[in-house]
Amino acid sequence: MAHKRRDFIKISSLSAAGLIFGASHLRSAIPTFQKSTPGTSGEFDLHRTPTYCEVCFWKCAGWVYKNDEGNIKKIIGNDDDTNCNGRLCPRGTGGVGMYHDEDRLKTPLIRVTGADGKQTFREASWDEALDVVAKGLNKIKQEHGPECTALLTHGSGGHYFGTLLKAFGSGNIAAPSYAQCRGPREVAFIATFGEGLNSPEPTDIRDTRCLVLIGSHLGENMHNAQVQEMSDAIDKGAAIITVDPRFSTVASKSKFWLPIKPATDIALLLTWINVIIENDWYDKEYVEKYTYGFEQLKQSVQSYTPEWAYGVTTIKPDVIRETAREMANAAPSVIIHPGRHVTWYGDDTQRLRAVAILNALLGSWGRRGGFFVPETAEVPDYPHPPFPKPARTWREAMGGKFKLADLALANGVCEATIPSVRMDCQIKGWIVNGTNLIMTLPDMQKTLEAIKNLELLVVVDTMPMEITGYADVVLPECTYLERWDDLRVVQGRVPNIALRMPAAEPKYDTKPAYWMAKELSKKMGLEEYFAWDKFEDMLDWQLKEIGSSLDEMMRIGVKNFPRQYGPLYFEDGAEVEFNTNSGKIELYSTAFAEEGFDPVPAYNPHMEPPTGYYHLNYGRAPMHTFSRTANNPNLTDLMDENVVWVNPKVAKQWGLKAGQEVYLQNQDGVVSDFPIKVRVTERIRFDSVYMVHGFGHNHKQLSRAHGRGASDSQLITRVLVDPIMGGTGMRGNFVTFRFEKGSEVES
Ligand code: SF4
Repeated sequence: MAHKRRDFIKISSLSAAGLIFGASHLRSAIPTFQKSTPGTSGEFDLHRTPTYCEVCFWKCAGWVYKNDEGNIKKIIGNDDDTNCNGRLCPRGTGGVGMYHDEDRLKTPLIRVTGADGKQTFREASWDEALDVVAKGLNKIKQEHGPECTALLTHGSGGHYFGTLLKAFGSGNIAAPSYAQCRGPREVAFIATFGEGLNSPEPTDIRDTRCLVLIGSHLGENMHNAQVQEMSDAIDKGAAIITVDPRFSTVASKSKFWLPIKPATDIALLLTWINVIIENDWYDKEYVEKYTYGFEQLKQSVQSYTPEWAYGVTTIKPDVIRETAREMANAAPSVIIHPGRHVTWYGDDTQRLRAVAILNALLGSWGRRGGFFVPETAEVPDYPHPPFPKPARTWREAMGGKFKLADLALANGVCEATIPSVRMDCQIKGWIVNGTNLIMTLPDMQKTLEAIKNLELLVVVDTMPMEITGYADVVLPECTYLERWDDLRVVQGRVPNIALRMPAAEPKYDTKPAYWMAKELSKKMGLEEYFAWDKFEDMLDWQLKEIGSSLDEMMRIGVKNFPRQYGPLYFEDGAEVEFNTNSGKIELYSTAFAEEGFDPVPAYNPHMEPPTGYYHLNYGRAPMHTFSRTANNPNLTDLMDENVVWVNPKVAKQWGLKAGQEVYLQNQDGVVSDFPIKVRVTERIRFDSVYMVHGFGHNHKQLSRAHGRGASDSQLITRVLVDPIMGGTGMRGNFVTFRFEKGSEVES
């Protein structure tokens, strides 16, 4: 399968093979299924089917409504779902655009090289395409071992391909949502409280009296229930403290906006810790009963005074004291929010340790209005044989580095694929499921270098993305509105589950990921790991094990269960055993000390932008998710390109006008493929620019997204790796302006 040179292929560049749309022999007759489910006659609203949203990871449960002809008309939230409380965000209601998008992948594709050496995709039957995948994986197994394969994944399909890969003998299963996003906070909270935050975070925002957002823009970042709770909390008088170089939407609702100098957040956090200790504003009883290492912490932060922090962060000393006082007054109903995308400057685990410590000092962990104790429904796996032990673990494949990482690193898999980086156990085959790695991983050149070294690249997706152009085999997945999937099982105030079932037949010749994995298992002799006959039978078995049934879930969509393991908050004076070395909340981390890292966080300055360059800050818009929704017809109606926010002083200096198009060039000379319009605004600091992530696609098959705006990912070439857990810090990049791709703007 290995192609000597892996050219990027546009999906439209197909060989002469005829179209095979509609050839599916597996299309299920959805309305028939609904009507014929035993014991349900007359109980179903045939116009609606339950689902949970796949437009982002929040997985809000909802109902898909169809008209009399069975056409999908709208999606609304399920009232019983605690992730959304009956209300979907703009992206969720626009999810139907994924189903209607005419640019979708439509049929399996196989890379072929013609007599002239030109590479194209040939349309293929499912049997052919899966044969190529199975043979390619087995060849790697025979020649190098199964542990030389990896899965890079985002979304529901990861479970099925993960099962396949584990059965095959590889444990290299990584998601960019860890080392490129939330990983540092998980490691930091595990080190401090003995448990990670997971998703959704157990923040008790609805009852909080003070919410601190550091570089987190809830509201633009649509974490549904959290945004709703924040809005309710504001109505009830909660104070919001927003720390951001940009006057975000939530900053405009805040009691305090601290326009911090970029890359100095840890200095502010350590100073708040110092102020709270020095003024005796911490929760003494809580700290004494539950924490370990208070004296070491106190000693370590002594030098971080507000006057010192002013020079570093540009936040005035009285504002630092006043905001610390605000938090202390609200304690324990205070949340210093851990954020989500926290891979910024390479010292991210330590910054999140400071966040965790601050919460611990204020006694908010396990307290009303702070962090509640979550519970999760226990849904059993369908029985299968034990997985074989991989000959090498993902940790060994990554050279034994980053021992405190609790999940595999997508960037580590990438490195382990490049021979010059890891000669001893090079990864040779990737399955990439639902993640556009070219734009998700920082340092695009390194990702492309890794891809060049692969013997097999299989891409599973609903849309042609930059990554599909490099695939050997493309497997088109149907959208979440056209398939069954695993039950949604997420933590919350109460354990709960949600059902996703198909609302329509898969369009074109697309299939669900569970079907692909099961068919592959048959071709690879691993079918005992997928022992169910029909997926819905498997769901019914799982549901009956926990006292429900498929029949019930098709009617209600979401089921909430009573809590099993105790109260939502720590009871007064309760003895609590934390899962740390000391059994306490560790203000001084013994685990970090053992591994040679600072047991208490410290401030280390970061690089300043060169003259004429600005910190590149990026973030989210409420109507888009990552780079995945930029082509969605419903969502592009709301926002079809990004713009670059520029402070008026900077605009004047460079002669930039609102709406003018410029190219951005980073500190390493990389220039954006496409121009981006300037937004001149006081809402951004003079040393920074800001843009929404996920635009600037260069895949021409994305008819609405191609060439719209600029890609921040392309400009992130300086990656600051977190020595503790291997996360990839991406905020250490700087940009300047160019009028044309080849000419600098005169400043
Ligand atoms: Fe869908 Fe919005 Fe919920 Fe995300 S937050 S799952 S996009 S409705």
